[in-house]
Amino acid sequence: MITRIPFSQIKATIDEAYEKFKPNKDGANANYIPYLANVPSDLFGLAICFPNGTVYEVGDTKFAFGIESVSKVHTAILVLRQYGAATLLEKIGADATGLPFNSIYAILLENDHPSTPLVNAGAISACSMVQPLGDSDGKWKAIVDNITDLCGSAPQLIDELYKSESDTNFNNKAITWLLKNYGRIYDNPDMALDLYTRQCSLGVTASQLAIAGATIANNGTNPVTKTKVFDGSLTPKITSLISTVGFYEHTGDWIYKSGIPAKTGVGGGIMGVLPGLFGIASFAPPLDGSGNSVKGQLAIKYVMNKLGFNLFGAEKFEIDFDK
Ligand code: GLN
Repeated sequence: MITRIPFSQIKATIDEAYEKFKPNKDGANANYIPYLANVPSDLFGLAICFPNGTVYEVGDTKFAFGIESVSKVHTAILVLRQYGAATLLEKIGADATGLPFNSIYAILLENDHPSTPLVNAGAISACSMVQPLGDSDGKWKAIVDNITDLCGSAPQLIDELYKSESDTNFNNKAITWLLKNYGRIYDNPDMALDLYTRQCSLGVTASQLAIAGATIANNGTNPVTKTKVFDGSLTPKITSLISTVGFYEHTGDWIYKSGIPAKTGVGGGIMGVLPGLFGIASFAPPLDGSGNSVKGQLAIKYVMNKLGFNLFGAEKFEIDFDK
């Protein structure tokens, strides 16, 4: 059976979620990266993008914030584009860690494997794999071009954030060199870490992340620019990676409650992907104890449950854009 949902109902539900959770004061900005601690805590934006290119957004959706760990999805896509699904599995892995994003213990538990490109270890490993190998500028260009294609417009490096992260990324240095020891860094380790740190410091908006999510949902074609970014066979690989570890140690709870694979970042962003239907993104800096945006979680969960969308349900949906 196909359930038809009028677009007007989706817009009303997005507006409701925004109004309902805007006053929420729970959580706190990330404070282990000084720049993030100073981003205004009350910013809040919610955006949704559909495969036909329609975007609906409310609130602070044009504010550029640190993409942080959401970029792990983008660079995993780049590695999938450059090497294919089998090599990513062999060189990095596709397993949930069940542990915090910056866990060193997870590397040791996974038999010297970074586990997944969506935690720090695997993301640094992914940056080391990006081609052209040995060429920091070339690799950086590949990373930024890929994010630009996915988002439909270019991200801007937040210099102050890059400096702030570079000055404080001691744990990530330890992760990088531990991985090097295990043969899981495939290029110069310092270069890989610097690229990872820089990609986390790119500024993006909630609108851009909704479009990137919709590009994944739309089998690799950016619905706004119509650019074919990646082969459609990669969409299930990407959404499976996101659904197993997008919220780190709380991913099971998230997916159980919301029904949508989504990736968070400590900059306050969340990017959700419902294959075939839409990409949805939120931005609100205050985080819970695991580094996931409090208001973003509440808003996306509300939209999913109110409208009945669920990746794991048997129901099929179509959206009536003229209603
Ligand atoms: N740059 C951050 C870090 O490596 C990203 C973490 C995150 O968003 N979860 O710690």
